[in-house]
Amino acid sequence: MVAARESKAASGTAQQVDVAVVGAGFAGLYLLHRLRKAGLSAAGLDEAGDVGGTWYWNRYPGARCDIQTIDYSYTFDPELDKVWTWSEKYATQPEILRYLGFVADRYDLRRDIRFKTKVTEAKWDETAERWQLTTDNGAPVSCRHYIMATGCLSAPKPPEIDGVGDFKGEVYFTGRWPHDGVNLAGKRVAVIGTGSSAIQSIPLIAEQAALLTVFQRTPNFALPAHNGPSPADRRDLFQSDRAAYREQARQSMAGVPYPQQTAVSWQLSDAERRERFEVAWGKGDLVYILTQLWADQGVDFDGNKLICDLIREKISAAVKDPETAAALMPHDHPFGAKRPCLDTNYYATYNRPNVTLVNLRQEPIKAVTAGGITTGKRNVDVDVIVFATGFDAMTGAIRAVHPITGRGGKSLSGVWAQGPQSYLGLTVEGFPNFFMITGPGSPSVLSNMAVSIEQHVDWVVDRLAALRDAGFTTIEPTVTAQAGWGRHMADCSMVTLHRLANTWYTGANVPGKVQGLMPYTGGVGPYRSICDEVASRGMLGFRLT
Ligand code: FAD
Repeated sequence: MVAARESKAASGTAQQVDVAVVGAGFAGLYLLHRLRKAGLSAAGLDEAGDVGGTWYWNRYPGARCDIQTIDYSYTFDPELDKVWTWSEKYATQPEILRYLGFVADRYDLRRDIRFKTKVTEAKWDETAERWQLTTDNGAPVSCRHYIMATGCLSAPKPPEIDGVGDFKGEVYFTGRWPHDGVNLAGKRVAVIGTGSSAIQSIPLIAEQAALLTVFQRTPNFALPAHNGPSPADRRDLFQSDRAAYREQARQSMAGVPYPQQTAVSWQLSDAERRERFEVAWGKGDLVYILTQLWADQGVDFDGNKLICDLIREKISAAVKDPETAAALMPHDHPFGAKRPCLDTNYYATYNRPNVTLVNLRQEPIKAVTAGGITTGKRNVDVDVIVFATGFDAMTGAIRAVHPITGRGGKSLSGVWAQGPQSYLGLTVEGFPNFFMITGPGSPSVLSNMAVSIEQHVDWVVDRLAALRDAGFTTIEPTVTAQAGWGRHMADCSMVTLHRLANTWYTGANVPGKVQGLMPYTGGVGPYRSICDEVASRGMLGFRLT
């Protein structure tokens, strides 16, 4: 049983727990379950009104996962796997939210969570060796360990356009979509942005709206999802040996059980490459097309360009107007160096008479006015503006808790002024007993996050239980270990093509954000081995007291 040290404190008196878990999405829920099983008392805190995280907030039309749901699921309890069956290859947001609610009920997690409660500040108390968290709703929290399960894509990026406040029509953000839906029927709608949320929602908005104008700054590669029932080959593989399937995912590069390719592009003829590409295009599977074409696709510019050319051919075939097709073709980044999108009828939507693409590279937005949007070449009158402008990824939600004050009064923002530093993407020197789930420096957004989240949570909770059992009260990485991880991160990224793209992976989408590749590119399986080795070698790189 959990030690009954929690106090349901009134505002002012701190709630005392072993561990505070900020966030009640995939990561926070699993943390609460594991901590309870480990006999550690925990308080979950979430700004949201219920569990779900990403899937609580992102309710825009067409919101779905883009990793097959058979893979984008918890794996910690084989019984859970058996009692939940996904209805589609890529489940919709409502279904994923139902799943997370089902998980919360099954393991009785809601009783440990304070909803509508935002953590605003965090301070390490050196004498008490505890974190003190300030919230915007009710009691502060005093905890031995502070875990941020605040999400990589949970801090929406504000629009960088003048005059948004002057607009007299309706304004929506895909990352904060109203819970009771939005009626767009017969309206003139603008969508700003062409990232994943835009690419998922544009075809559905186009079906409802009288007129849809899409404002695009940077085109993305999008691949057909071919959604439907879970494909028989994956389902059969999973059902033939569920444990082996899950284990293969844990050891894979991206958290989905696909083997490493060995043939490099120049060993294959044009016809062989095209055949492989067509198979991948027909599968509608992001991880498959990102990893299974040829071995050098993610590391060699020429090997990668072959794929870019083949996708551009597909765009050209799908979009009737050549000028629109050309504007939709990415040329500024290698395929996979920026997260590609999965779509349903995205390119074909531009053939509809009610849809127009505005290429902001040729005519930047000058201002949002009372009645619409003005570019250098036109005024577009609209009733509704949908901002699909993405997130301050990976560090946004962490830095929004301000200040996070560690040992000696150090602030995390100060330590990260030149970009995030961490050891294993999990911990930061100078911030004892502080953990991040899928933080900068971990595989996170380059992986199936369900698998990465489980690995992080298991590793952190196992360490906390071991520390407690050994009589330690603090854990903190050393300067040397953190610097070494930074060098290893840089070495890994130098052999990939990520260095050639300005993306949200590098912070380039947020004005003023220090740029540098934030996720670890060494792969999910290798990362897991490193974490396990750290633990088995007496917590290599950590100072315990
Ligand atoms: P989140 O789900 O983001 O939850 C974090 C929670 O922390 C939020 O509820 C937030 O309210 C709360 N929070 C943050 N700061 C505070 C604070 N200061 N105080 C209190 N609460 C706070 N990943 C995949 O692997 N596959 C996919 O197919 C996929 N599809 C996605 C589709 C969309 C539209 C988006 C936006 C992301 C997608 N992702 C996908 C990434 C997705 O974010 C992760 O898979 C996963 O849901 C993250 O879970 P999490 O618990 O780490 O964070």
